[in-house]
Amino acid sequence: MLEAPAVKVFDEPRAKCVKCGAPARIRLNYANAWLCDAHFKEYLKERVKGNLLKYNMVKDGDTLLLAVSGGKDSVALMSLLDEIAPELKVNVVAVHIVLGMGEFSDRSLEAFKAACSRARNIRCVTIDLKEVLGMYMPEVIRRSRRPACSVCGLVKRYLLNALAASMGASAIATGHHMNDLMTYAVKNFLQQRLDNITKLGPVSESEGSAVKRVRPLYDIYEDETRAFVKVYGVNHVDIECPFKTRSTVEEAIKESLNRIEAESPSMLISSARALAKGLSSYPRPASPPNRCRYCGMPASGDECGFCRLTERLTGSPMGPDVVRKVESIAKSITA
Ligand SMILES: [Zn+2]
Ligand SMILES: [Zn+2]
Repeated sequence: MLEAPAVKVFDEPRAKCVKCGAPARIRLNYANAWLCDAHFKEYLKERVKGNLLKYNMVKDGDTLLLAVSGGKDSVALMSLLDEIAPELKVNVVAVHIVLGMGEFSDRSLEAFKAACSRARNIRCVTIDLKEVLGMYMPEVIRRSRRPACSVCGLVKRYLLNALAASMGASAIATGHHMNDLMTYAVKNFLQQRLDNITKLGPVSESEGSAVKRVRPLYDIYEDETRAFVKVYGVNHVDIECPFKTRSTVEEAIKESLNRIEAESPSMLISSARALAKGLSSYPRPASPPNRCRYCGMPASGDECGFCRLTERLTGSPMGPDVVRKVESIAKSITA
């Protein structure tokens, strides 16, 4: 942990809230301000709401599908969206995918259920991977013999896209925060994969999918979601995925960005906002030209990545079967 984080929560109040003068224990270094607990929440909420509007993530009457892993960022976002949804007249459905990865998955599901029982304006749904695919993620990873994160990402994306499409959702929201998004942006810049940077903005089309991806925490510091779950005692999973492989390059970039932020508070948030403005001049990723011959989802060749993967795992492409099962889950939400 860095000595000068962007946001720090003290055990006891140290100053006065800039909004109301009440004792404040939350120090925002990047904004050179102190906030009381209530105004910190209000401030985060207004920024997330501002992002939803400013970047056209949602409009009146839309249904937003929120992917909740159970980590601090997605549960913090869910908590804020629960208050924002009625104000913007947006329907939010939160989905958690049960991956079957032992204690990590058990604790993730627990955190999701706790968030659902607190939520007053968000409907919740879970997709159990074994129920839709016949096996959990460890078996998928073992049988696929591919890097865990890429297989897991592919499966989750497919399920989210299928659910969003069958629900008629206008967008899929994820809890990616600024520090991670900027880390990936810098990495892609160094590798000159500029079209990948387009996918890291506040809003992006998801690989030819009809449903766009939105990131309401686009300019929210990781320290802010960390502070939020701490201050409000929000249940979240704080152990790492057992299959996660360390990327030393990403870690080094992330650390460097934190160091730059410590040297020059608010540098990261200014950069993120500038990047969002500049993204329209970046090359766009080519969208897959074909449709999967099995399930009809966007595909670069004859088959989509999911059908190709499941064909290798089970001998037959499972896209159509999985889509049918996800459709019946979607019906249970709207019913
Ligand atoms: Zn206050
Ligand atoms: Zn397919």
